[in-house]
Amino acid sequence: MSLLSPALRFDFPALDQHVGGKPLVYLDNGATTQKPRSVIDALARFYERNNSNVHRGLHALSMRATDGFEAARARAAKFINAADSAEIVFTRGTTESVNLVAQSWGSANLRPGDIVLITEMEHHSNLVPWQQITRQTGATLKYVPVAGADAEHGLDLDALEKLLTPQVKLFAFTHLSNTLGILNDAARLCAKARAVGALTLIDAAQSIGHEPIDVQAIGCDFLAYSGHKMAGPTGIGVLYGKRALLDDMPPYQTGGGMISTVDWFESKWKPAPERFEAGTPNVADAIALHAAFDYLDGIGRPAISDHDHALAAQACTALSELPGIRILGPKTGKPRAGLVSFAFAAAHAHDIVTFADQDGIALRGGHHCNQPLMKKLGLPSTTRASFYVYNTPEEIAVLAASLRKILKFFA
Ligand code: PMP
Repeated sequence: MSLLSPALRFDFPALDQHVGGKPLVYLDNGATTQKPRSVIDALARFYERNNSNVHRGLHALSMRATDGFEAARARAAKFINAADSAEIVFTRGTTESVNLVAQSWGSANLRPGDIVLITEMEHHSNLVPWQQITRQTGATLKYVPVAGADAEHGLDLDALEKLLTPQVKLFAFTHLSNTLGILNDAARLCAKARAVGALTLIDAAQSIGHEPIDVQAIGCDFLAYSGHKMAGPTGIGVLYGKRALLDDMPPYQTGGGMISTVDWFESKWKPAPERFEAGTPNVADAIALHAAFDYLDGIGRPAISDHDHALAAQACTALSELPGIRILGPKTGKPRAGLVSFAFAAAHAHDIVTFADQDGIALRGGHHCNQPLMKKLGLPSTTRASFYVYNTPEEIAVLAASLRKILKFFA
């Protein structure tokens, strides 16, 4: 495992500031990443030069906007090795992508007796939509448990074998847990689901900008992610879906842009992806997302993955020396992706985050939208440090020193 050049920091204007009189140490990348200059410039350039609505205009600006929007879609397909850009639906982010599948595919396909299988490590975004649609359709929601007092063993694969029956119509799981730092073996999980005829949906919110992802190699049916967690803007995300599935699904929302014909009492839909993009889409942010794909591929996702994993391993080693710390997920020395969440009996996560902020360190404290998992692990909250391309080993040393100081205060 190796680290990226610290000079990458200079690509990110927001990092060049002091907080509380100290240089900013931004370790809240699991919530959202900072944006490189190229993404900020792409956004500004669109509004300065090309701003227009897409698909409905024949004038120069409208054509430029449409070309830019569709080029972003083609680039999004390439980023995950989708076979066809028609398999890319632009959404507001992971949450909307999962809701789209739950409401559209779910309402058309789920019946009483069917099972939707998810896991105990899901973010609420990949949990509540399945609660809702199973309740609406009479289908049943089941969970693959996590194993270990600190969920250090990840998904219980023996339990998964037993849960995967022919009644399971869809298995939806996170690629990278936002609380545990566990990277699930997506290809293996999809193969197991396929063996019983279940479709698969991957929540790639945490992995998309950090790990290489090839949807054809993984063999998933749907994959959801948000642009803002991969150096792109907020308000734009992607639902990848196999073309035959998307073309078979009813619209999620209706209105302009998604119809082929409308009569007084009846309308016909366009094929995917337009069928799922009612109304004026988020053109500017899709175009800026294109710049984020280019930026990340310019570094190389294997290199990003190595960097994040190396920092997380260093953080685990440094933090495990702190008195009374409980680190969730894989133990020191075991594979862990680029985030670490931890708890102390002596201090609440919100206090840790507030005090660390005074040292210029941005952390996240709370239940991380994993309330049922937190309950199972017997924790009200954890503090999370999450890493990205611009973070350095020096910042981990700053974090460890700050936490040591905070713990002395609470002792
Ligand atoms: N899934 C996971 C694993 C996440 O970490 C997040 C964001 N914290 C989401 C889904 C939801 O993403 P968004 O809020 O961008 O829709």
